[in-house]
Amino acid sequence: MSHKVTLIPGDGIGREVMLAAKRCIDAAGVDIQWEEQIAGQEAVKKFGSVLPARVFDSIKKNKVAIKGPIITPVGKGFRSVNVQLRMSLDLYACLRPCKLYKGVKTRYSQVDLVIIRENTEDLYAGIEFSEGLTRTKNIIDYIEKLSGYLIKKDSSVGIKPISISASRRIVKFAFEYALKNKRKKVTAVHKANIMKETDGLFLNATREVAKDYKGRIEFEDRIVDNMCMQLVLKPELYDVLVLPNLYGDILSDLCAGLVGGLGVAPGANIGDTMALFEAVHGSAPKYTGLNKVNPTAMILSGVLMLRYLGEDKAADRLEKAVSYVIAKGKDVTYDLKVERDDPGAVGTKQMADAVIKRMKNLKK
Ligand code: NAD
Repeated sequence: MSHKVTLIPGDGIGREVMLAAKRCIDAAGVDIQWEEQIAGQEAVKKFGSVLPARVFDSIKKNKVAIKGPIITPVGKGFRSVNVQLRMSLDLYACLRPCKLYKGVKTRYSQVDLVIIRENTEDLYAGIEFSEGLTRTKNIIDYIEKLSGYLIKKDSSVGIKPISISASRRIVKFAFEYALKNKRKKVTAVHKANIMKETDGLFLNATREVAKDYKGRIEFEDRIVDNMCMQLVLKPELYDVLVLPNLYGDILSDLCAGLVGGLGVAPGANIGDTMALFEAVHGSAPKYTGLNKVNPTAMILSGVLMLRYLGEDKAADRLEKAVSYVIAKGKDVTYDLKVERDDPGAVGTKQMADAVIKRMKNLKK
């Protein structure tokens, strides 16, 4: 079967890792027609916008997209392209498997976690009001009147919306994922002891949804700070984690660290009718154009995409080839070598070449 997929190369190392991933996906034996769309810094130069309307049009038409990382400058006036895409397309579930592949150097012997992060609300949605503006002062006055709490007048203010509907649907997604992928346990992560209304609502929603899966999937909850410690000490005790947006963002990097770093952490943003696949890592600007960084996270995001497209055989073949190359430890990038300055480390392109070569052998 033929598939049409929107391909967004992204900024910094984006084009390098995306090209490597595209070559690997094509070599997995699927018929994909790629529709390249530019977003980010290159789109600013070409179209005067970081996120031209044609990108949305293409994703809405094709329903499936794969994207390299896109820079979000720190400071005022820049809304993250990544957040805009997830929110505007209602890609509410962020799926981030963190699996330890044999041959990756880490402190752990067994990690196989899946992070499911709510993608559309919470502090991460970026609803913020700048210090000094009249409307910010008005908000501060209003909140003081309503709550009785004093807020310093020279504050910026951020809003943390957490809804029953968004909480319920992400937790349902987590349980359905657990069932479909033969997982045993879902752990909800929150800070409901302090944020009683927002995280409290999230926790109540998770408990309600969990009732529907009683006897089929185990359920528990953890406070986010404790969860961080537990994950560092004994990650093998956890399975599927479901979290609101901001905690999900932070724990994604923590869990990527457990399985060897950002170079091997893939991701997907999934909605009811479409999906956008991307690595957890960013555009790592200092490595741009050096053919140095690890393409694995982007290739494994491609594996997730192939599974979403129903191409399980191709996905298995590609994942097997990646895990073989990593386990061999020869044709891998610097971050997968025992010593980071190992002169035997290969480049982004050469690691992808090794994966493609292995797939050819697997087919025989
Ligand atoms: P980053 O993930 O780009 O890089 C942090 C460090 O991680 C790098 O310096 C490098 O040492 C390592 N790293 C990242 N990817 C790697 C790879 N493929 N192989 C080997 N090592 C790798 O994080 P940052 O420096 O905080 O962010 C840079 C830019 O990327 C920012 O503008 C940020 O907003 C953006 N960003 C985008 C996305 C996205 O598009 N989804 C995600 C995160 C960050």
